[in-house]
Amino acid sequence: MFVDVHCHLSFPDFDNDRHEIIRRLKEQNISLLIDPGTNTETSKRSIELSALHDFIYSTVGLHPHDVRQAVPDQTFCELESLGALPGVVGIGEIGLDYHYHDYHAELQMEAFRSMLRIAKKLDLPAVIHSRDAWEDTLRIIEEEKSSNLRGIMHCFSGNTEIALECIRLGFKISIPGTITYKKSTLPEVVHDIATRDLLTETDAPYLSPVPFRGKRNEPSHVRFVTGKIAEIKEFPLEKIAGIIQRTAHELFSIEEGAQASRQKEQ
Ligand SMILES: [Zn+2]
Ligand SMILES: [Zn+2]
Repeated sequence: MFVDVHCHLSFPDFDNDRHEIIRRLKEQNISLLIDPGTNTETSKRSIELSALHDFIYSTVGLHPHDVRQAVPDQTFCELESLGALPGVVGIGEIGLDYHYHDYHAELQMEAFRSMLRIAKKLDLPAVIHSRDAWEDTLRIIEEEKSSNLRGIMHCFSGNTEIALECIRLGFKISIPGTITYKKSTLPEVVHDIATRDLLTETDAPYLSPVPFRGKRNEPSHVRFVTGKIAEIKEFPLEKIAGIIQRTAHELFSIEEGAQASRQKEQ
């Protein structure tokens, strides 16, 4: 019923209990989990994890934090071939992050553009990470716009105006656990945009929602995000969860029952 479209379950933070967490997910009604890569290595780990579980999918990406120097063409070639593997449903995370002072905007923008082109070439949705960089993010998406450019704004942190602009450009707004924080302005955004444009995520191991704030985040906590959305939309939780589930399946082209056949193919 619940979907976590962005969870780093393949990160070392889960090395000691990953299996146990995954085992519990079905009881916790998590029907879909997408594990994003952040560079070649983590993308490979994410693909390996997705091959083992029928409700876990991966995306292949190059995180702006991993763009510290010019990225060799070979890296993009490798990421493109990884993106064509079974179980890969998107390209990301990719994007821009100007939050910490030592970022390199030009290099990030160049890598972002190259990765968006891979997403278009492979006809996959893009999973975008944008922090303190909305202007450049939206400009580049606008410039790279094409009929098949689409995706999600993961861990959305903008206002309603930015959200509507992202939706206009073909992107869904993915809401993280920070929506449960007292000072969060996300409830306003959720209130202002249509439920069909929303997705839910944990970004685990980061950003635990209340009541787990400060602790390691887990995919099962996505229910607090869905619950908060249901509360804001004044709509039954099961219905909200159903709409979000359909949006995720549609965007990432995951058919009901496709997971089982995917395992057989491998
Ligand atoms: Zn991110
Ligand atoms: Zn992430």
